[in-house]
Amino acid sequence: MSDDTTTTAPRIWVFIEQEDGKPHPVSWELMGAAGQLAADLDGVVEGVLLGHQVSDIPPEAFCYGAKRVYVIDDPVLEIYRNLPYALGVSKLVKQYTPEIFLVGATTLGRDLASSIATRVRTGLTADCTELTIDPQKKILAATRPTFGGNLMATILCRKHRPQMATVRPRVLTMPEPLATADGEIIHEILGMSEEEVPVKQVRFIAGEEKFNIEYADVIVAGGKGIGGPDGFKLLEELATALGGVVGASRPVIDAGWVGIDHQVGQTGKTVRPKLYIAAGISGAVQHTVGMNGSDFIVAINSDPNAPIFQMADVSIVGDLYEVIPEMIKQVKGGHHAE
Ligand SMILES: Cc1cc2nc3c(=O)[nH]c(=O)nc-3n(C[C@H](O)[C@H](O)[C@H](O)COP(=O)(O)OP(=O)(O)OC[C@H]3O[C@@H](n4cnc5c(N)ncnc54)[C@H](O)[C@@H]3O)c2cc1C
Repeated sequence: MSDDTTTTAPRIWVFIEQEDGKPHPVSWELMGAAGQLAADLDGVVEGVLLGHQVSDIPPEAFCYGAKRVYVIDDPVLEIYRNLPYALGVSKLVKQYTPEIFLVGATTLGRDLASSIATRVRTGLTADCTELTIDPQKKILAATRPTFGGNLMATILCRKHRPQMATVRPRVLTMPEPLATADGEIIHEILGMSEEEVPVKQVRFIAGEEKFNIEYADVIVAGGKGIGGPDGFKLLEELATALGGVVGASRPVIDAGWVGIDHQVGQTGKTVRPKLYIAAGISGAVQHTVGMNGSDFIVAINSDPNAPIFQMADVSIVGDLYEVIPEMIKQVKGGHHAE
């Protein structure tokens, strides 16, 4: 493995997403996967970072396995806008010709990755659940659900480079960072002025505080078996007592009982809490793909044959309206407010 940018070792790139100078954890999850791919390809892991005043980030990237970080630091990149970001990253891709390019499937990452793939004329496999190297062909084998989550498809990008893939936050495990690590920072120029960007931020209106279910340690999730929006108050009480947040299955979102940010599953969020309590959730595959990485699963269901019990560490067959108040009582040490 060479240490300069003229290396012939295949480059495995990770887009380091940041907002206000804070890296998104999915970037480090991708670095972990990139390390595995690099080991199989005898390649090198490199990061790509765009923004303004982001110099704190590359040292962190080195600790997660990047040997080199390409940085474009420019006031034009202070907030995310598709055009300057897509232009900047595509320029780097054309210059350094990475073999593989991984991007987080966040709102920003989805917008950016598709624009880059179009600009550099390559393929993109979105929302992958597994990334490996095909042992014969020595190319990326990107696996993702298809046909409504009932089948897994492995997609190869044979002829075009880079081989691009997005992965949602929490699908991959977070690697353990080194305490310190060295790497190289390569500064590049954006080559675009503010006048050339047609999209302007006129003003920023802060919304509600961002609800971040993906990185919660405890999730108390409710399904259709909750029966209505009022039942979520009970789940909220248990979640709060456990220091966690409320999750939900899709029919609950469709019924408008809680907001879409709470949805767990194939078309919702992927979560990996230490504790996942599933109440009144049957365990359809489209739900379980989003939570089967949880450390410990407690399922509460009145139907003893509910599929969710097959993956539960603790199975409670019963009416959730009896079980949850009892749990709240136990957690609060016998002081449940009726
Ligand atoms: C393309 C596609 C994408 C999808 N994406 C998602 C997704 O991201 N997330 C998702 O969740 N779903 C998704 N779905 C829907 C999914 O297929 C299931 O329909 C859904 O997960 C079922 O939700 P549920 O378990 O809450 O409801 P149900 O399957 O109706 O189950 C309700 C459960 O509650 C139990 N119950 C009823 N009353 C009580 C009680 N008092 N106490 C205890 N238990 C009780 C019942 O026994 C039952 O098991 C998707 C479907 C498709 C086709």
